Amino acid sequence: MTQTIINPTPKDYKSTVKPTWCPGCGDFGVLNATLRGISGMKLAPDQTVVVSGIGCSSRFPHFMKTFGFHSVHGRALPVAQGLKMARPDLTVVAVGGDGDFFSIGAGHLVHAALRNIDITVVVMDNEIYGLTKGQTSPTSPHGHVTKSTPYGLMASQFNPLLTALSLNVSFVARGYSAKPKELAALIEQGIQHKGFSFIHALSPCPTFYHTFDAWDAAVTPVPEDHDPSDRAKAMALAMETEKPFIGLLYREERPTMDQAAQQLVEKAKEFDVEQYIQRFA
Ligand code: SF4
Ligand code: MG
Repeated sequence: MTQTIINPTPKDYKSTVKPTWCPGCGDFGVLNATLRGISGMKLAPDQTVVVSGIGCSSRFPHFMKTFGFHSVHGRALPVAQGLKMARPDLTVVAVGGDGDFFSIGAGHLVHAALRNIDITVVVMDNEIYGLTKGQTSPTSPHGHVTKSTPYGLMASQFNPLLTALSLNVSFVARGYSAKPKELAALIEQGIQHKGFSFIHALSPCPTFYHTFDAWDAAVTPVPEDHDPSDRAKAMALAMETEKPFIGLLYREERPTMDQAAQQLVEKAKEFDVEQYIQRFA
């Protein structure tokens, strides 16, 4: 039976499982923002699913009172997409880290983005592999020294927002875990958006890399006069890596694949098999 919540608070979406993150982990702020965003929308917990892969941030579904699916490494998006295609009535949010989404799961990100499936993705980016104790990830900066790269990282740094924009993702935003109110608003807008929403959440890993200080000093609000329908300008903002812009960069309304799939079901009822065989046999 569908459960509705009257005047919910973020607490109504919090499970009794205590987060097991290190004290000071940025993921606490992202969890708070997500609880706020979902409560702001008054979503029924039994109509909402949070899906994750593997990593510190992927423990997320355990800490929420919605339905959850803690899947396997890099596979949050195949699960989330399948869920949305089968149950378009549900609100589906996929969460995880930079390693999960931009390394082993990068191929899935590309195709989910191109399909414009109506799901929301929140990537907690700490620019490191936290769960496996501090190796470089795709978003670690070139030259970064860790125990696995003693002479410095040889690869270039992956740019999540520029990648999302180049894939024509229909909602692209960045938030910061130390600003949960602003991040909550972006998550709420992302869920409301009909289409694939990509929210890049800067989320420090003080145990193995960033402290909050560096990002506190660097993050900059998206300029007030930025037009979120201008993809080229959004790309220019995404390229400012020294000054990470936070806020909504890009939004475009266009048909989603889960809507198209429903229309296809109707179309298939009038499908002319004979004509098909004549044309393609
Ligand atoms: Fe958070 Fe880093 Fe600890 Fe993982 S290792 S819980 S990312 S602070
Ligand atoms: Mg990480």
